[in-house]
Amino acid sequence: MDTGISLYRRWRPQNFDEVAGQTHVVRTLKNMVEGGKINHAYLFTGPRGTGKTSVARILARAINCLGPLQGNPCGKCLPCNNLLIGYSMDILEIDAASNRGIDEIKDLRSKVSFTPAILKYKVYIIDEVHMLTPEAFNALLKTLEEPPNFVVFVLATTEPHKVPPTIASRCLRFDFRNLSEEDMINLLKKVCEHEGFSIEEKSLLILIKASQGSLRDALTYLEQVESFAGKEMKDEDVYIVLGIPSPAWVRDYLLDLLLKRRENGINRVEELVRLGRDFRQSIRQVIIQLRNLIIVRMGEGSKKIFVDEELLTNTSAVPIEELIIVLDRLISQENELRFSLDPRLTLELFTLKEASPASIKLPVKEGRVTLKHEEILTETKTISVPAVSETIFSLDSFIKFIKETKKHFIFGSMIGLAKEYSFINNDLTLFYRVKEKAQLEFLNKEKGNLEKMLSEFVKTPSTISLKYIPEKDSDFDLRQDPIVKKALELFEGSSLIVRKVDEDEK
Ligand SMILES: [Zn+2]
Repeated sequence: MDTGISLYRRWRPQNFDEVAGQTHVVRTLKNMVEGGKINHAYLFTGPRGTGKTSVARILARAINCLGPLQGNPCGKCLPCNNLLIGYSMDILEIDAASNRGIDEIKDLRSKVSFTPAILKYKVYIIDEVHMLTPEAFNALLKTLEEPPNFVVFVLATTEPHKVPPTIASRCLRFDFRNLSEEDMINLLKKVCEHEGFSIEEKSLLILIKASQGSLRDALTYLEQVESFAGKEMKDEDVYIVLGIPSPAWVRDYLLDLLLKRRENGINRVEELVRLGRDFRQSIRQVIIQLRNLIIVRMGEGSKKIFVDEELLTNTSAVPIEELIIVLDRLISQENELRFSLDPRLTLELFTLKEASPASIKLPVKEGRVTLKHEEILTETKTISVPAVSETIFSLDSFIKFIKETKKHFIFGSMIGLAKEYSFINNDLTLFYRVKEKAQLEFLNKEKGNLEKMLSEFVKTPSTISLKYIPEKDSDFDLRQDPIVKKALELFEGSSLIVRKVDEDEK
């Protein structure tokens, strides 16, 4: 086996039939080569990693091949071999992204009319053609208007709308599609078989998800797993390389959130810490699994969508609307983790909130009195609709301001725990449940600082009020709840609630 050459380069398709997932493009190109109908300019469009450059190279070989086989380059003749090795002076690849192509296009203009040195066709492959400068485009257009009959252009781009219509209209356009999960899995299986890798299909699927449709990335990940674990790759090796938790963890954490198992949820976060897994990657896996669950529950899943059986069975009573709300919050959480200085605390708070038995059922609406907790709070529905200027205030934006601009993650998270808020006459009232006594008291002590931040945020002097909302189970004592106890212990490490409250609370 070739060593030293990356898996991706080794597995670059050598003919049209080896190209993954672009059947429509490949079939047309083969027919054209077979029929001898060669255009002077092609425009290949599509996302990165879908094979545009590979197909351009195959096309260059196929039209120069002395004996093409059903439109494919034979791979045996001199031009084929010449091009296979990549040393033909008649094939020129220009990367417009690297220097915007000014010099190359000038050079191209001066040399384009010379007949090819060895081959039948001179082929110019211009990658990321939309990056060319207007001057370079003009020069290219002049060439395209009257191309010598031995010149073929292949223009490739990820952003076809940025290619001037005068250029695009002179090209035969082919749209490359994102590779489907099925295309990718088939190819990776083939690669593993040839390379003698042993790996389970569900691990390959995880690699594919992590690579977000790019075959190049998927092969790079596979190579990393191999260099870490050798040819016998266990699931765990894939998770370690990608920094993600096992599917069992993902399933159990989702069950904790959906079935409101707070204590388990907190333990699950601790497990991530212990295994040194990346929080954002982990939440991303949870998002993928929940998304799949929703698709399957909606009855739109194909057989290829992987959903854990146990997850499917145990969450059958959870309404689909609730799944969608949790998905929405997980997506926000993933984004929040990107900015968090203390991702562990952020994730713990999220887990506590989301997995608490009386967790929020309604989506958060920005800019007005928000009812997050309808089933408990009925009388606050009568709060008057705020004036227009006040509807601009958004608690989420304020929290973001505190966390990102002021770098006060704890304040932000504590405010985020409010179940209800109003912003009327420059007074922000936050409503907490009795259970959140510790948070309320903590914020009360910091009220001066908070009001300063709020005034800065809304650019006018403002006040903050902290209130309790009526609870059905108001006799429930926060400190007796084992999960809250545990959470308080965790926060103590960050010099938070427990110590402060207990010290100042005589
Ligand atoms: Zn050939």
